[in-house]
Amino acid sequence: MELTVLGSSGSYGAPPASTCSGYLVRHGSTNIWVDCGNGTLANLARHIPIADLDGVVITHHHPDHSVDIYGLHVLWRYGLQREHLPLFAPAGVRSKLDALVDGDWGTTFDWIEVADGDKEHLGDIALRFSRTTHPANTVAVELSAAGRRMIYTSDTCSEWSPAEFGTGADLVVAEATYQRAVAHPPHLHYTAHDAGVRAREANAKRLMITHIWPMLDPAASVLEAEEAFGDRVTLATPHLSVHV
Ligand SMILES: [Zn+2]
Repeated sequence: MELTVLGSSGSYGAPPASTCSGYLVRHGSTNIWVDCGNGTLANLARHIPIADLDGVVITHHHPDHSVDIYGLHVLWRYGLQREHLPLFAPAGVRSKLDALVDGDWGTTFDWIEVADGDKEHLGDIALRFSRTTHPANTVAVELSAAGRRMIYTSDTCSEWSPAEFGTGADLVVAEATYQRAVAHPPHLHYTAHDAGVRAREANAKRLMITHIWPMLDPAASVLEAEEAFGDRVTLATPHLSVHV
């Protein structure tokens, strides 16, 4: 599998990461767009023809993870004149996003509601979902193919762990919005320390941190995560691709 970061800015788009949460996961001929944060559709188009997309996962309705679904809808429906693109999302996402299109998604997407413990399949990639601890109905997602596993935490506070999917993932992409010294109450997100601790507890082989609050120094977040994880940590930056 290959993971390409499309956006990694925490909660709002700002330098250095600029675009909000979005990832392209590929294996074989399968292309999945995971989270449609603002700015990520344009970045996705730099990596694959959008017509080659096989499906979408939206982990929760918060705009920094979802709003670029509007652009995909317009392109898929009117530009490409395609329909029935699989879209996996937890309950409540569709109704929240209805306002983007006055409730008329037409037949652009096949909306597939997912919840804690659900297993799905899209082409060559298997998907599993776990409800995280975040105010919106949010799922983390595990993507696996050819014996390799990656976990994307989406948004969560420290009560949830990637170990919910079992230990030993090849890659954990963990949100790390805050740093220990600047964890804003209420605690709706991981700190970089939380990301490191949780990934270590889950025996992750590699850790990448993302969704960093733009006012923070990401290099300091990496150091904090590395100290807790006990190994090197990768910083998610747009257009970074890694093999899983
Ligand atoms: Zn959120």
